[in-house]
Amino acid sequence: MEKPKISILLIDDDEDEYIIVKDLFAEISNNYEIHWVSSFDTGLKEIMKDDYDVCLLDFRLGPHTGIDLLKEAAVNSCTMPIVFLTGQGDRETDITAMKTGASDYLDKGRMDANTLERTVRYCLERKKAAERIKSLAYYDQLTLLPNRTLFLDRLKLAFLTARRYNRMLSLLYLDIDNFKRINDSLGHIAGDELIKEVAERLMKYIRISDSICRTETDTAINTIARMGGDEFTIILSEIKEIENASRVADRILHLLSSPMVINSISINVTVSIGISIFPLDADTIDTLIKNADLAMYNAKALGKNNFQYFNPEMNASAVKRLILESEIQEALQNDHFILYYQPIINVKTKKIVIIEALVRWIHPEKGLISPRDFISLAEENGLILPLSDVIFQIVGKFYDKTGRNYPDIKMAVNISPKQLNDVHFIESVEMILKQYLLPPGYLIFEITENCIISDMKKTITLVHKLKQLGIQISMDDFGAGYTSFNHLKQIPFDYIKIHHSYIATIPENPGDNAITSGIINIGQSFNLKVIAEGVETESQVKFLESKKCDMIQGFYFYHPMPEDKLNEVLKSKEE
Ligand code: C2E
Ligand code: MG
Ligand code: MG
Repeated sequence: MEKPKISILLIDDDEDEYIIVKDLFAEISNNYEIHWVSSFDTGLKEIMKDDYDVCLLDFRLGPHTGIDLLKEAAVNSCTMPIVFLTGQGDRETDITAMKTGASDYLDKGRMDANTLERTVRYCLERKKAAERIKSLAYYDQLTLLPNRTLFLDRLKLAFLTARRYNRMLSLLYLDIDNFKRINDSLGHIAGDELIKEVAERLMKYIRISDSICRTETDTAINTIARMGGDEFTIILSEIKEIENASRVADRILHLLSSPMVINSISINVTVSIGISIFPLDADTIDTLIKNADLAMYNAKALGKNNFQYFNPEMNASAVKRLILESEIQEALQNDHFILYYQPIINVKTKKIVIIEALVRWIHPEKGLISPRDFISLAEENGLILPLSDVIFQIVGKFYDKTGRNYPDIKMAVNISPKQLNDVHFIESVEMILKQYLLPPGYLIFEITENCIISDMKKTITLVHKLKQLGIQISMDDFGAGYTSFNHLKQIPFDYIKIHHSYIATIPENPGDNAITSGIINIGQSFNLKVIAEGVETESQVKFLESKKCDMIQGFYFYHPMPEDKLNEVLKSKEE
């Protein structure tokens, strides 16, 4: 393999000097790459990039001097070795330069290939030594993880950022269970091996979480550190939900649960984890650490191999969520998700024009569970993707069996933001269209504003792709969140559904009356069909009729119903 070139940054306002320096380096070998900049400002910018091995800096730089630049570099914690170039006999400047942070100085008058080569080599060696010292000071030499010092540094940074931006931050404190016993019985070398294996598995977790978990839980893990002995810490910055910390803890317990082979002996290693949350549990870094540590001791006291929040209330809710999560997984395997269907009526003809598919979970013990109790969790942990595949399959089968007999009735399916962000989304839609020969225009995708806000550009592209596949798009729950009429302009929707909270108080509430008729007018002026959702009373129907709303959905006409009931309804309409 070719040796990487040594890159030199030359900051000098005189081009002749550049040519001389370049020639001198060429004389030494062709192993140098010279990058020349002539001004103070670009010089500083390049220095701060820290892309070069060594910098050669001239004294004279237009209205500034090289000393000014050295000062700026020092203020900005520049670590690149800088060699100061001066004129003959200018000793005082040389000394000032060295005091200001230069690694060395060179007298331009006496500079030849040899002195230049020696100086650069010296700088590179010093840089290597400095890096080694830094590594000793900040990294644990056994595991190569950040040590306590670097951990405290990073925690401080994460803490300040969390406080400034009103974010949550979580600290996990890990301790290997029964480590002393392992160490005493197998010896220190085996103990070290075990710690290394734990560290490696934790690092592997970071790598996985960077690509998977981060999108699942929106939790950025920025530091795993070894605090010393058998203790590790994990900083989770930017946690959106407190429960995300327990999800990470749970995965770590799982990751460490397979046996470790040390000295040809298989050992089952477990850890206890304590979790503290800023700002819930602590308002200083010290208490955050102390409380995570206390929670860890609590986990030990409760039988080890588990995690505990510092705040006891959190434990109950975390356990509940983890149980629910594994139950969703089971339900997916056992086909316990079904669809209920709720018709949408054309206001003028009173005919059913759309059927909305609404998922239900048939729980073996708890009975029918509403999507409101599991969709958001499934979105957080990524299970919404396999769940949505199941929903698509049921929708396809429904068309095959029933839908095809009612060509004037479309099927609306709710789409979650996670699906829109999934790189395989379009592919899976195409597959379902093909598999069940769904005609263009049969499917309507209902998306909410959450889907749009995260990435407008991406949403627009995706919606266009879906429309090319013959899928219509409906904006669900319009008015519920950060509604922007701008969205109507930018995204080619076919329908908007007015959020039921406005419908609930019409016609008594003049404000909601005005909003509802406003949405109807604006929607229709964009050539969209407007659907009112959550319609429960006759007076609401009358009001919507008078405002020329296009379609209505709600308990007044139909509740969501299982497939056999829907079949009866559809059949009765035929007669
Ligand atoms: P949504 O899409 O806005 O669905 C309308 C919800 O309002 C349904 O609740 C429906 O049962 C309820 N509803 C309909 N008419 C009335 C009425 O007259 N009065 C009242 N009070 N409520 C009415 P459901 O089925 O519990 O679904 C709740 C939400 O869960 C849905 O809101 C949707 O956001 C989500 N969801 C449901 N199924 C799916 C699905 O298959 N995939 C995804 N990603 N989300 C789904
Ligand atoms: Mg909907
Ligand atoms: Mg809705």
